[in-house]
Amino acid sequence: MSHSEKAAIFNKNEAKVNWHDKALWYVREKRDNAAHGVKGWEYLRDTASKIKGNVLSNLDNYLEEFEANALKNGIKVHWASDAEEHNSIVHKILEAHNAKKVVKSKSMLTEECHLNPYLNDRGIEVVDTDLGEYIVQIAKETPSHIVLPAIHKTKEEVDELFQEHLGTKPSNGNPEYLTNEARKHLRNKFLQADVAITGVNFAIADTGGFVVVTNEGNADMGAHLAPVHIACMGIEKIIPKEEHLGVFLRLLARSATGQPITTYSSHFNKPAEGKELHIVIVDNGRTEQLSREDFRSSLHCIRCGACMNTCPIYRRSGGHSYDATIPGPIGSILSPGKDLTKHSSLPFASTLCGSCSNVCPVKINIHEQLYKWRQIIVKEEPQPFVKKSILKIAGKVLENRRLYNFAGKSARFMLKYAPKFMIYSKLNAWGNARDLPEVKNTNFDDWYKAKRKNKK
Ligand code: SF4
Repeated sequence: MSHSEKAAIFNKNEAKVNWHDKALWYVREKRDNAAHGVKGWEYLRDTASKIKGNVLSNLDNYLEEFEANALKNGIKVHWASDAEEHNSIVHKILEAHNAKKVVKSKSMLTEECHLNPYLNDRGIEVVDTDLGEYIVQIAKETPSHIVLPAIHKTKEEVDELFQEHLGTKPSNGNPEYLTNEARKHLRNKFLQADVAITGVNFAIADTGGFVVVTNEGNADMGAHLAPVHIACMGIEKIIPKEEHLGVFLRLLARSATGQPITTYSSHFNKPAEGKELHIVIVDNGRTEQLSREDFRSSLHCIRCGACMNTCPIYRRSGGHSYDATIPGPIGSILSPGKDLTKHSSLPFASTLCGSCSNVCPVKINIHEQLYKWRQIIVKEEPQPFVKKSILKIAGKVLENRRLYNFAGKSARFMLKYAPKFMIYSKLNAWGNARDLPEVKNTNFDDWYKAKRKNKK
């Protein structure tokens, strides 16, 4: 199913779409206020972009440096070339400890690798401990946003879900009550866990340590209680030095939720006494993306979600319409690199307004990369005959002034006098969701000529 077909499903509930749009715009506004409050915000963005550019140009060196230092610290380091290998490494570690219960804090990489179903099929219980992730897990859904995984659910829907799965009382969507109930339930899971899995926000080459940021403290709780901690990271999560953390931590929280800093920024440098700490470093298509000159800077992404919150298409089509682990503008750049045919509609799910590039804390030229994918896709993927023919005609009209003026005149006439069903019919997908403005009799050219004539 294409993005627009999936979006049409989400769009059936107009009230919910409006609410989704508003909720995300609220977060975007919080981001703006937070960003405007920092002197040298643009300088920070530039610096972050340069650090990431340097990392990508020297990725092999930094990864080796990180591995050597992590090993010195007593961390066990594993390398996985793809999702399958990642899952099998994690499974082997669990098997070695006869682990049957796992608590996992938010990690888009493990989502990307489909770790939960892999482990579930092998008799292991995995509980997602981030509240939003926990909600989508019990709803048997996938996250629809990388920072706000359950943003597509209203509090009333969560209320019903908790009644069904946790036996809570109806609370009319009282967030405090629901959070407390989830907390009680999750506390037992933390206490029973054999292993804790976390993601990695930043891995520091010169120390061999890594940082995980959360607002709920769930990564820390899991990692500190369980005897074994497995951290899973993509190869692009490296930063060269600890001093660079200040740049990214200041940008990340403000861009994601408008907070000055995330509530917990936990540093893991070595295993605690008597415990094990593993790190799985995963490629899974990242080196391929690195080799695509036009798209390599998409690997700068620090997963703040700001491009989603600002995108008019994402806000009104919902994260699930992207059918990918990373939705929204940045997902629409990453996904075609993995499967061009499956994700060929995603780069077109954009107005190319550039708002995503404007808010991106690491200055990825997102809208330009979306445009570049479009150029590749129209060459490599078969396009619908009607679309191709219409665009060919449009090209001819736009390059010939006379033809353009004639077409404009005809369109203005048609739009005024043609029966409405020709525009607002099922056959015209464009007209389905749009109201046209009132059509004027003249175009700008005629208006300008008339004005000049009157002046003479
Ligand atoms: S592309 Fe930029 S704005 Fe979007 S999630 Fe990544 S870092 Fe944030």
